Amino acid sequence: MAFDFDLFVIGGGSGGVRAGRVAAQNGFKVALAEEFRMGGTCVIRGCVPKKLMVFGSQFSESFIDAKSYGWDVPTHPTFEWKNFRAKMHGELDRLEGIYRNLLKNNDVTVYDSRAVVKDAHTVVLRDGHEVTAKTILVATGGHPVVPDFEGSQYAITSNDIFLLEELPNKILIVGGGYIASEFAGILNGLGVEVTQAYRGDQILRGFDDEARKVIAEGMVEKGVDLRLNTDVAKIEKVADTFCVTFKDGSEETFEKVMYATGRRPNTDGLGLENAGVALGKSGEVVVDDYSATGVPSIYAIGDVTNRIQLTPVAIREGMAFVETVFKGNPTKVDHDLVPSAVFTQPEFGTVGLTEDEAAAQEPIEVYATTFKPMNHSFAGRPDRVLMKLVVSKANRKVLGVHIVADGAGEMIQMAGIAVKMGATKEDFDATVAVHPTMAEELVTMKEPVRST
Ligand SMILES: Cc1cc2nc3c(=O)[nH]c(=O)nc-3n(C[C@H](O)[C@H](O)[C@H](O)COP(=O)(O)OP(=O)(O)OC[C@H]3O[C@@H](n4cnc5c(N)ncnc54)[C@H](O)[C@@H]3O)c2cc1C
Repeated sequence: MAFDFDLFVIGGGSGGVRAGRVAAQNGFKVALAEEFRMGGTCVIRGCVPKKLMVFGSQFSESFIDAKSYGWDVPTHPTFEWKNFRAKMHGELDRLEGIYRNLLKNNDVTVYDSRAVVKDAHTVVLRDGHEVTAKTILVATGGHPVVPDFEGSQYAITSNDIFLLEELPNKILIVGGGYIASEFAGILNGLGVEVTQAYRGDQILRGFDDEARKVIAEGMVEKGVDLRLNTDVAKIEKVADTFCVTFKDGSEETFEKVMYATGRRPNTDGLGLENAGVALGKSGEVVVDDYSATGVPSIYAIGDVTNRIQLTPVAIREGMAFVETVFKGNPTKVDHDLVPSAVFTQPEFGTVGLTEDEAAAQEPIEVYATTFKPMNHSFAGRPDRVLMKLVVSKANRKVLGVHIVADGAGEMIQMAGIAVKMGATKEDFDATVAVHPTMAEELVTMKEPVRST
């Protein structure tokens, strides 16, 4: 049977754009449908605008520190959200244009439309137009979900933050994951009074416990009112504000309430059931190591598969899909030892096993140090840094690296290479320190602080 295209990609985000572009570069006839804006979550309402906001928010501390370094700065520097927002959206428009051009220059046919799956080889566009393809790639990403409770309709999500007309004076952020914690730091840095409520014992569940504690303490030190073991019962609108009743019965009024308690794969109404594609408990597309669904012509990559929800992982999955399906080179995606950063303030970089995970697996040694780095110490700031290595006793391999420090995201990219290569503690020790830096501690820790 002759198809309209070799590949039809649904979703113009990190994974879909990469897979579509590379398949087209290899001579295949490719189409891609995007229902919102090209670039997807990362470019339009995720990594990129968030990181720009992190940069913007850090100036408040820089102004204070600058005085300690001899600079004459105004006592009350002010931040104009509208000026920043306009510049930020200008940058997002520019990046969206780049994504669009990448596709155009590689002869990918772009449909600015929602696409739904009709059967194993057919998708239907918003105007009813049907398109056939030998292979369909589902790369539709995910979306934030607010749980259902009284007044939940008043809650905003991370999608809305980037579009706010005005910054609120006072916000409640509900959630303890990386998105909630990052926005707590961002808005706090921009001068908003931030309360972060999380129902668990500590934020950033799933990450190394010692690092979680240092980050939480650092956030509180910087002014975030972090309330653990706290959950919302209801939200009532009172004029332009929101009265929040917590589950302990206490009440407090906020100008905005933001929920970042979870995301769900975009599969509702996508028609995958029509083609016989299996969905998991959270609505994710169930795939094997090659990103193949149970239907031979349909694959899925990125957040919609609910594996590791990070842009570079979606891109890797897209590349592996092209190798497998279009280059005759079956390639599994390696989801092991993926380094990542959490842009909280203080920042966090991590790769490999947490101390608890490693200890459950085998006997370990833990090398860790916390200290006040030179730049903060000079400025009179209390911020602490954590450098931590989790080491296998049996083969001396570094199983995990956890860094809480300015620039931890940059540092962990480098440490991740060593860990991925299987470096031992002795390999770290054999590397000469770079002085004076914070990262030099990673190669100078002599005695374990704990061992199991
Ligand atoms: C606030 C926030 C911060 C983040 N920060 C980071 C970070 O710092 N680092 C990092 O690595 N990751 C970060 N992420 C995660 C990252 O954005 C995602 O992992 C990544 O975008 C996933 O790529 P994807 O291609 O799977 O999906 P997406 O980028 O979500 O793209 C999916 C696209 O499909 C479109 N679509 C959906 N359904 C249809 C349909 N039926 N028809 C047509 N189009 C459709 C959507 O409009 C969307 O554009 C962040 C996410 C959020 C929300």
